[in-house]
Amino acid sequence: MTNPLYDSLFGVHAGKESVFLHLADAQTLTHAEFVTRAAQFAHALTELGAVAGDRVAMQVEKCADALAVYAACVQAGLIFLPLNTAYTGDELGYFIANSGARVFVCEAARLEELQSAAGEPTRLIALSGAASLAELADRAPTTFKTVARQPDDLAAFLYTSGTTGRSKGAMLSQRNLLSNSQVLVDYWRFTEDDVLLHALPIFHTHGLFVATNVSLLAGGSMIFLPKFDINEMIRLMPQATTMMGVPTFYTRLLGDPRFDGDLTGHMRLFVSGSAPLLSETHVQFEERTGHRILERYGMTETNMNTSNPYEGERRAGTVGLPLPGVELKITDPASGKTLAEGEIGQIEVRGDNVFQGYWQMPEKTAEELRADGFFITGDLGRIGPDGYVEIVGRNKDLIISGGYNIYPKEIETVLDESPDVLESAVIGVPHADFGESVVAVLVPAAGTAPDIEALDALISTRLARFKHPRRYELLDALPRNAMGKVQKAALRQKFS
Ligand code: ATP
Ligand code: MG
Repeated sequence: MTNPLYDSLFGVHAGKESVFLHLADAQTLTHAEFVTRAAQFAHALTELGAVAGDRVAMQVEKCADALAVYAACVQAGLIFLPLNTAYTGDELGYFIANSGARVFVCEAARLEELQSAAGEPTRLIALSGAASLAELADRAPTTFKTVARQPDDLAAFLYTSGTTGRSKGAMLSQRNLLSNSQVLVDYWRFTEDDVLLHALPIFHTHGLFVATNVSLLAGGSMIFLPKFDINEMIRLMPQATTMMGVPTFYTRLLGDPRFDGDLTGHMRLFVSGSAPLLSETHVQFEERTGHRILERYGMTETNMNTSNPYEGERRAGTVGLPLPGVELKITDPASGKTLAEGEIGQIEVRGDNVFQGYWQMPEKTAEELRADGFFITGDLGRIGPDGYVEIVGRNKDLIISGGYNIYPKEIETVLDESPDVLESAVIGVPHADFGESVVAVLVPAAGTAPDIEALDALISTRLARFKHPRRYELLDALPRNAMGKVQKAALRQKFS
């Protein structure tokens, strides 16, 4: 193979008349049309001066052409760098400068605003409209000579979600992406008959490198929705066989009385990830539809690390077992030594899926990526007797009060049991004596006012005194980002 990632995901589909994308307004794009479009974009990017190894950054709304630009980058040996559509001009300035992108593709409406953010030598261009990349592509030949790449060559820089600090650019090689897609296609039994209901953003690993790469490698199709819209999800679900979503997708589907077993009768698999799925959601989903959601665990730096099994038990509250080819261990944060089974510690992973380091952050890379190849994920968890991995939270969310370690999830789980509580987030705020003290932020169930005394009593029967919240705060909703991740840093700021 001259370019393993391109050949396996895209090149293999050249000339195929099967549908790849089902788009809005009943339009479709075949595999052959997609490969052709990608070749045209590869010409357009080359015409702008991008050469193998250059970075191409892009911030645009989800559409078929955006995906074709990704394919074009792989074909031309360019490093693809998709950016969150929520980023402001100022934030983009950081990413453009930090990535050293040669070309920056944006929405036509933002061209003017971004002109100042994009310094030399970045070439700023709109994806569509007048004088755009799409216009260059329209005029370009329909085949492009694939640029040869090695498995260790970089394919993408993907920025982390910025949940625990400033986003970091994770350098991902061809091998990183391809090996993980191969494992997932196999593990989750994807075939060319699959139709994936795709409502995730494509600037994040979940929608791009999990959902899209898996569909491409299997040769299946995707119902490609611009965003999660409950009416569209319900209208189109009967035509799909699989869905990948963040936990909020599942809670929103369950919140709609039209969502039931009939609607999901044609589905074979629901996958959840990017944030913890509440056990309660898992149970309700099965009661309503008969399907057990398959929860998996991954991150920008590693793609997917663990998954509940396809055939075996999909256990609520766990992220399943390490995927084939992924080694996972639990270590003591202080010494780095492997802990005994069942003990809580930091999750470390090693395998072909693990990234090549953070772009231009050698110190950060050295702190988190060990010389022996293990990556310190920043998540805390434990492994049960039968190998199932349970995540208890992030290292940075760990509360240390009076010298004791307090895991927020343990307290959240008890609070969430109360019928008065829809959901909760437990955080640590600075405390003069104890270092930190525990604050519980509650979202009341619709139409209720939680009885704090009763909650306190519930907590007392279940948890040691040092874990009891010292304060309760109420909110209408927890702050979440596009991937449904609770923004605990924002809560700490608000309630400190
Ligand atoms: P940053 O690294 O910039 O702080 P981030 O870690 O949120 O942001 P991502 O790479 O998008 O950026 O998210 C990966 C994280 O998402 C994991 O480290 C983990 O904390 C969380 N996560 C992913 N899947 C699950 C899951 N199934 N259950 C619990 N947490 C999950
Ligand atoms: Mg992270």
